[in-house]
Amino acid sequence: MDGQTRCDHYSGPLDVIALKFACCGDWYPCHLCHAALADHEARQWPTSARATEAVLCGVCGCALRIDGYLEVSACPSCAADFNPGCRLHHRLYFD
Ligand SMILES: [Zn+2]
Ligand SMILES: [Zn+2]
Ligand SMILES: [Zn+2]
Repeated sequence: MDGQTRCDHYSGPLDVIALKFACCGDWYPCHLCHAALADHEARQWPTSARATEAVLCGVCGCALRIDGYLEVSACPSCAADFNPGCRLHHRLYFD
């Protein structure tokens, strides 16, 4: 991935976040990277874990809570736009 957490799968100008996975606690730019690099199935964060800081803005490096991330379309810290297409994939990361 590059300095703003882009990877081979999602490399548009808006693809700037990284996610921490519930299964291993490791950070990956996307679920496809996890599938390629991890040796186990990805697990989604349960709704009870919404207060976990599991999203990282790759532009400014700030961590967001899951519930906070789900409510915004841009970074609350640096105002970088998040990819609206990511919303289609939330089920892969969060219950
Ligand atoms: Zn994992
Ligand atoms: Zn990827
Ligand atoms: Zn930011």
